[in-house]
Amino acid sequence: MNKTNLFGMTTEEMIKEFSDLPKFRAKQIAERIYRHGAKSFDEITELPKKLREELAERYEIFLPKPIDELNSADGLTTKFLLELADGAAVETVLMRHDYGNGVCISSQVGCQMGCKFCASALKGMERNLTAGEMLGEIIFVNNFLSKENLKVDNLVVMGTGEPLTNFDNLIKMLRLLHEPYTLGMSYRRVTVSTCGIVPGIKKLIDENIPVTLSISLHAPDNKLRSALMPVNSAFEIREVLKAGDEYAQKTGRRVTYEYILLGGVNDTEEHARGLAKILAGQLANVNLIPYNPVNERDFAPPERHDIQKFFHFLNTHGINATIRKEMGSDINAACGQLRSRHF
Ligand code: SAH
Repeated sequence: MNKTNLFGMTTEEMIKEFSDLPKFRAKQIAERIYRHGAKSFDEITELPKKLREELAERYEIFLPKPIDELNSADGLTTKFLLELADGAAVETVLMRHDYGNGVCISSQVGCQMGCKFCASALKGMERNLTAGEMLGEIIFVNNFLSKENLKVDNLVVMGTGEPLTNFDNLIKMLRLLHEPYTLGMSYRRVTVSTCGIVPGIKKLIDENIPVTLSISLHAPDNKLRSALMPVNSAFEIREVLKAGDEYAQKTGRRVTYEYILLGGVNDTEEHARGLAKILAGQLANVNLIPYNPVNERDFAPPERHDIQKFFHFLNTHGINATIRKEMGSDINAACGQLRSRHF
């Protein structure tokens, strides 16, 4: 008999599932699974032994399993390849920042957005991740950190996949992560990154959860953006910026525009000028991401002085810009590169 997986259920769902048990049992079980990393009912010692045995006959607690792990030389970044119940695998990255431990999760197996510079898009998309699978990536890393008495402090949904095309699962996961019986994570510690799915941005505004929105812009004009990101033919720059502005106005949260710097492609002063112009007056930051080379892709990283010039231009022309700290480039931390080595 196939056992029902409890991992990913809310307490309300568990209460329904265990209709013959007192309600407090659901909360006990949920806390043990999510906060304390229980992987079997034997570890949930508050439950009477007989109940543990009965539950184990009908249910399982499935967490993703590590099939590969890479550590950066500086010890700050660990990238995991995690196997899901159906054998699919996703990349999850732990980044130890001085302000806390961040986890970067994948939202889909593969990606269908087709960005020309990205490793995740190379083999297309297999499927969406469920809310439980995304939460599983986070709890896996939290359990990993708990051995050092540490925990996950921040979440970025910036790994493989386009989270806003997996909207309902994304929202269910974020709401679960916010529950006190899981990690009780404040929405302000969460960043969701999108390639600019305009209807998804609007739906996110309606959810009323004040996460930070990151929008991958990567080019100051439609011609270049369409060449790099096919999604631009569906939602062009003007529409994306309008949705970003609406997000900032309604949530009061500054939007971050990600701008990948591709050597000789979008990293000149002219591009910086164009970017400053289209972002003028927006409640926004720019995060410059030096390109992390992907073997199968024909792009080069930017020259160091071009990064500095671009950065300086924006900051002296009214745009608040930062340069993404390159973490773990020695372990191929760019999206999709560990997975594409295995599959
Ligand atoms: N689909 C979402 C989230 C996943 S990609 C999005 O597009 O935002 C997360 C970020 O990494 C995006 O800004 C993406 O453009 C960027 N990225 C992808 N491949 C990269 C690479 N090789 N080097 C640097 N950044 C990359």
